[in-house]
Amino acid sequence: THFGEREVPLGEKQGLVNDVFHKVADRYDLMNDMMSGGMHRVWKDAFVAKLAPPKSGNDHYHVLDMAGGTGDIAQRIMSASHGNASVTVSDINSDMLRVGAERAKKWRYQDGVDFVEANAEELPFEDKKFDAYTIAFGIRNVPQIDRALREAYRVLKRGGRLMVLEFSTVDVPGLDKVYDLFSDHLIPPMGKMVTGDGDPYQYLVESIRKFPKPEPFAQMIREAGFENVSYTPLTGNIATIHSAWKIR
Ligand code: SAM
Repeated sequence: THFGEREVPLGEKQGLVNDVFHKVADRYDLMNDMMSGGMHRVWKDAFVAKLAPPKSGNDHYHVLDMAGGTGDIAQRIMSASHGNASVTVSDINSDMLRVGAERAKKWRYQDGVDFVEANAEELPFEDKKFDAYTIAFGIRNVPQIDRALREAYRVLKRGGRLMVLEFSTVDVPGLDKVYDLFSDHLIPPMGKMVTGDGDPYQYLVESIRKFPKPEPFAQMIREAGFENVSYTPLTGNIATIHSAWKIR
């Protein structure tokens, strides 16, 4: 992993990631809208539509939304399920969770939503607790992705589903150039404008470039024990939805 011109050891990566999100927590939504031109909303809608949480049933459909930040995915799951789901929003960053918990007070469905500070690499939850594990734009920030995937597998019930929404590398001719220009020349200055510091955003841009392409990432998911692994590209491959199941 690089940060600016410097090679960053794995052990330092989490600290840098945490700095970024502590700095932006209060303006995270504005940031997202600016940097994705509002597209993150469309992708998150598609992600939750694909999860299709049940709208009825006696047992709550319990989702762990990991790296859940300010609760965008949790809010969509609660609406899509008409309040039939319950969502544990978990994130390593207390500031992101604080903003999320504040926002959740205004949600139509808020019963059954809770917020837990945790590291995706080492979850404080018992085995086979959740029906689904979602992680949106979070997994590329986790230093040891394989550990996070194994933890996801552990906490899912048999028959449970893993869903990942993440940026991928744009490979549509023309769009890739636009995207590179945008990443290198617009994201860090926008970050600087909103938070006063452009460096952390340089790191984020690089974390997107370093993240494995969909097929190698699907293979990592299989190696963690998941089956029926599939993925769907969104908007010229800017982002990808991965889906997988814990069968055994
Ligand atoms: N899921 C939210 C969304 O889509 O709006 C937030 C995504 S935000 C780009 C990435 C989140 O990952 C941040 O809130 C950050 O604190 C969290 N994160 C980074 N490393 C993590 C880790 N090791 N365990 C849990 N969360 C982590």
